[in-house]
Amino acid sequence: MSALINDIEIIKAKTTKINEVDFDNLTFGKVFSDHMLECDFKNGTWQAPKVVPYQAITLDPSAKIFHYGQSVFEGMKAYKDANEDVWLFRPLENFKRLNISSKRLAIPELPESYFMEGLKALLEVDKDWIPTKEGSSLYIRPFVFASGNGFHASPADEYKFLICTAPSGAYFSGKVKVLIEETYSRSANGGVGFAKAGGNYAGQFYPTQLAVEKGYQQVIWTDDTNHEFIEEAGAMNIFVRINDTLITGPTSDRILDGITRKSIIDIAKAEGIPVEVRKIAVKEVVEAAKNGSLKEMFGAGTAAVISPISGFGFKDTDYDLPELANSYGSKLKKIITDIQTNKSEDPFGWRFKV
Ligand code: PMP
Repeated sequence: MSALINDIEIIKAKTTKINEVDFDNLTFGKVFSDHMLECDFKNGTWQAPKVVPYQAITLDPSAKIFHYGQSVFEGMKAYKDANEDVWLFRPLENFKRLNISSKRLAIPELPESYFMEGLKALLEVDKDWIPTKEGSSLYIRPFVFASGNGFHASPADEYKFLICTAPSGAYFSGKVKVLIEETYSRSANGGVGFAKAGGNYAGQFYPTQLAVEKGYQQVIWTDDTNHEFIEEAGAMNIFVRINDTLITGPTSDRILDGITRKSIIDIAKAEGIPVEVRKIAVKEVVEAAKNGSLKEMFGAGTAAVISPISGFGFKDTDYDLPELANSYGSKLKKIITDIQTNKSEDPFGWRFKV
């Protein structure tokens, strides 16, 4: 789909909130930069995007987002290097995935130029909001939702595409302990698990709350048929290392095609790490934990990059993972973040200069 845009209109905020932000002690996704990108779909077409002050939006109570959950989103990060150059990581992958998600939710797809040029214009205006401290970045949240009205259970005729940004620090503060889920599912064959649809996350909160009450931080999602195979770690893809082999499940209707996941697979292969993309049986992981061949497990996603797992619970038994001096997780995290933040060569051509 091609649509050309000329200059993007920029309406600047009258005052800045930047002086209220403690950039040395950022949490995740709690403070927002001065501007946002706003783009409306009406009369059957996407209108020109604009950069406007970050502000509340007004919606009719019958807006379909409230009733039928027609909403999709993305998560990306911008980094600023020592020369003040601004970098994104594989942004076209996020654009493509946003449209894959939109299509599944019967939301009109966006033209590439609206997403990319809009994002660049926003980052230009809010460049000072990109943190430089190690481990922090400007988290970027593009999202599209049904703003059109009516109680009829059918797709809306109006939508909003917004991009908001939040200077952020680490997503998790340490290793996480996870519970292998045996009752609930986050997705099903033929469903929307592969889409970044808001409702997928709403459906995860209750089972995650139950896991938290039992002393775990996250749920390991298993397949919806028999809970036999491990699929995702909370809102991250999952990797398991058995002996020297790094294993991750294949993407499917039920698993989000994570950009971190596919980058990690490529980096690991280039590093000579044996990688298998195949189904991982819960039984296999439990066996490996018992016989000591389970060396590490980690979640992979934009927000946390690589999140090491300290142990897992399954059928009322806890299995601890050993502390590894030279884990694949820490090695791969360093390589990927060095590429993202322009601290190393980028042999894959993933880095994108804004
Ligand atoms: N799985 C789910 C369910 C997610 O929400 C995310 C975060 N986007 C991921 C995996 C990781 O995807 P990515 O590496 O593209 O952030």
